[in-house]
This record gives sequence, C-alpha cells and structure tokens, in this order.
Amino acid sequence: MTAIAEGFTLEETALAELAAGLRGELVGRDHPTYDEHRKIWNGSISRRPAVIVRCAGVADVMAAVKFARQHGLPVAVRSGGHSFPGLSVADDALMIDLSPMKGVRVDPDERTARVQAGVLLGELDRETQPFGLAAPSGIVTHTGVAGLTLGGGIGWIMRKHGLSIDQLRRVDLVTADGELVKASADENEDLFWGIRGAGANFGVVTEFEFDLVPVGPTILAGPIFWKMEDSPEVLRFYRDWVADAPDELMTIVVHRKAPALPFVPDELHGEPVVMVIPCWIGDLDEGERFVQPMREFGNPVADVCMRKPYLAHQAMFDPSFVPGRWYYFRSFDVPALTDEMIDITTEHSLRIESPLTSFPIWQMGGAVSRVDEDDAAFGGRSAAFTYNIGASTETEEGFAEEREWVRNFWSALEEWHTSVYVNFLSDAEEGEDRIRAAYGPAKYDRLQALKRKWDPDNFFRINQNISPG
Ligand SMILES: Cc1cc2nc3c(=O)[nH]c(=O)nc-3n(C[C@H](O)[C@H](O)[C@H](O)COP(=O)(O)OP(=O)(O)OC[C@H]3O[C@@H](n4cnc5c(N)ncnc54)[C@H](O)[C@@H]3O)c2cc1C
Repeated sequence: MTAIAEGFTLEETALAELAAGLRGELVGRDHPTYDEHRKIWNGSISRRPAVIVRCAGVADVMAAVKFARQHGLPVAVRSGGHSFPGLSVADDALMIDLSPMKGVRVDPDERTARVQAGVLLGELDRETQPFGLAAPSGIVTHTGVAGLTLGGGIGWIMRKHGLSIDQLRRVDLVTADGELVKASADENEDLFWGIRGAGANFGVVTEFEFDLVPVGPTILAGPIFWKMEDSPEVLRFYRDWVADAPDELMTIVVHRKAPALPFVPDELHGEPVVMVIPCWIGDLDEGERFVQPMREFGNPVADVCMRKPYLAHQAMFDPSFVPGRWYYFRSFDVPALTDEMIDITTEHSLRIESPLTSFPIWQMGGAVSRVDEDDAAFGGRSAAFTYNIGASTETEEGFAEEREWVRNFWSALEEWHTSVYVNFLSDAEEGEDRIRAAYGPAKYDRLQALKRKWDPDNFFRINQNISPG
C-alpha cells in the first residue's frame, strides 16, 4: 500500500497498472521530478498532489479520469499552470497534467488551428504568425491556451476580433465518466455554450479548434510613460481619447514603479509611473495618427510605442510576470472611468511598495461587446474597463503587506464593481457570490442545470466551481 494522504492509501498494484497503461508518465511523491511538476506559476502556492499523471494524449486523460473516479480521488487539471489562485494543483489530489500535449496544426488555407491542451500562448502565436494569422489570446506568452480560453480569453486583439472563445469552433473533451465527446455549434451545443466561459467545470478539454484572423506581422504598439503624480490628468485625457477609438485600437493602463530598462531615464528607475500602452493592429499610418494626441499629452517621460512584430508585443509583459514570484490578484469590471475613480486609482497606486507590483486596467468593448451576452457562458461583455489589481513580490517577504494593499484598493472602488472576469477571480476568500457575479444569476442557473447534466457528482470541483445545486 502507498500512503498518499492521511487516512488514504492506494494499492501499489493499482498505481502500477495505471502507469503501465499510460503513454505518458506517472509521477508519484518519491519521483525525482515530482517537485518540478507540482510547481505552478504563482510561487505563493505550494501544494502536494497524491500523484501526477503527465498525459501524452487523450487515452491517458481518459485513463486518469477513470482511475480517479474508481479510487475516489479528487482531480486537479493543469494545462499552463497559470491560475492565479492555483486551481491546477491540490493537496492529495490526482493532478492531470496536460502540459506535455503540445500539438498545433495550422491550416493556412482554411484559417484554422487545432491546438492541444498543453500549448502556451507564445507557442501558438509562433505557429500562426508565419501566415500572418493569430487566434485571439492573452498578453503573457507563458500562459496556457486551455485555462485562458475556457474562461473567455481577453487580449490585445479582442476589440477587433473578439475573445478567444469568439473564434472557437470546437473542442474535444473527456467527461466525468472518462468518455471523449466533441462540442461545437452543431454537436453538444449546450456543452459548447457552457465551456465558453465556465469550461473547467464540465470535463477535461484535450483539443481546441480555432478560427484564425489576420494580424500583423507588424503592428504599432508599446508603452508611453508619465510620472504617476500626473495620472489624474493623464487618465482623464486617456478616457476621453479612447471613448471613440476604432476596434483596431486596444489599450492597457499600468501603474507601477518604473523598471530599470534602458529606455526609461535613469532618474526615474524605481519611481512611480503610469503607462498607457496602445496596441494598433490596423493600417499603421492611420494608427500613428490616432495615437499622436495621446503621446503628446502633458509631459511623457518615455515613449516606446513603435512599429514592431506582433510576436514581440505579445511578449512585452513577460518580464513583469515571471513564474515563481509571489502573486495576489483581485479584479472587477466597471462601466466607465469617472473622475472619482481615477483619483482613487491614483491615490492607491501611489502606495505601491514592491518594485515588482504592476497592475493592468484593460480597455474592453469593441467586438467583445457586440456578441450577444447569451451567446456563451462568459459574462461581462458590456464592461468598459477591467481592473486587475495585482501585487507581486520576489518571495514571501513583504507579500502580506502588498496583498493588503490589493484588498484595500479593491474595496475602495467597490461601489463601481459590476461583473468580474472568472479567470481573474482569486481563491475561496472571494466566495461563491463572486462566481455568481462572473456569470449573473440567469446564466449561473443555466450553468447549474448543465452541471447536473454533465457532472452531477461535481467530480470536477477544483475550479471556480458551479455546484450542481
Ligand atoms: C501571467 C498571467 C497572464 C495572464 N494574462 C491573461 C490574459 O492576457 N488574458 C486572459 O484572459 N487571462 C489572462 N490570465 C489569466 C488566465 O486566463 C488564467 O490564469 C487561466 O486559468 C490560465 O490558464 P492555464 O491553462 O495556464 O492555467 P491552469 O492553472 O493550468 O488552469 C486554470 C484552470 O483551468 C482549468 N483547466 C486548465 N486546463 C484545462 C483543460 N484542458 N480542461 C478543463 N479545465 C482546464 C483548471 O482546472 C483550472 O481551474 C493570465 C494569467 C497569468 C498568470
């Protein structure tokens, strides 16, 4: 017998049988790579699963699900391992690790890509960009396509081309019974509705098929910096400037202490700054004209908004979100940026202590808002901006203080909260009400009914969970 958790043992023969049937690898607690594979992006989370099944393909996923069911083990599903609250790893669970599943097949004529669950955003972009194509995804290359898409997927090209789910054609999914099904607009339509926003709840998606859209390869993008003390005026101008922006423009605003990068003047290194980051994916001359008023406003201290490859821009935030650091996030959508909100935002941003804390305010709207709210489970299409207040420290030192800063800041803007993006939710501290807020009451009820149909025992519960009710 192998003791895998207090009061729980597994027959060694059962584990050996599972291992023998896999094309991938079974990693137990005494395996030399156990610590490497249980590690996730957020360094503040360290959990010890009972066993890790490193899946090579669909058959391994089916075997892992059936094994966990048979032995009463909870299941955690890991693709890119970037869940903020660490929902891809759990103590004493069976971890289904999809990260070895790296297949990508682009069809440039049909403009589609078939993508296995272990693929990261940067890996997908590398396969699509040689054809001048892309699937809408996120802003950090090492995030998983799977978890991001199953929550919705917001990123630099969404205002023109929609969320990741808006270009999703089909998924292959292993159900709670360990069976493989397809879901698309024509097959298991109810499931397809649910997985587009609440996807972790209904099974393990092994493959995605996306429609691809033309992007780049050259775009106009990059940050313009001002001193943070100028943020009240900069953000008021910014708000009015983006109000009539075409879909070709997407922007993110970041408040942080300036990093020691070559293009930031030496005297500003470590000083608080506000950055407006435009990303223009249309005609480049037109983009230059549109961005000009913003880059001329007030006294910018650095400006590296320039023509560059889409691939380079997609990697722009990678140094700000290095794996293994300690992170904590709270998020909410807002219907507008009012003067009062801008002043509260500046006031709290000026209190950032950690040189690594860097939080985005996302401009929403455009194509995202034109898809019918009932088209998919994803909620919050009418949001004007999304706050993703996040703190980061290198280690535990200073983390608790920075986390408190996040919570206070989040509370200070509470009266303007509307919906929330499910992939930006934190842990159990936020509670079931916040999951309901992500979908709204009507969709939450519909998701519960779907959960009763596809996973009545709540076998998949280590996620932003929809209980079967
Ligand atoms: C650095 C960073 C940058 C980010 N940037 C963006 C961004 O630009 N846009 C955006 O929309 N989001 C962004 N996010 C949030 C991101 O969408 C979520 O963290 C997402 O869950 C990550 O997916 P993953 O596969 O890496 O995560 P994982 O931790 O592996 O999984 C996250 C959740 O999805 C479930 N899951 C994972 N794979 C599957 C699967 N194949 N089938 C069923 N369920 C599965 C897991 O059970 C877990 O609940 C970012 C996160 C980080 C850490």
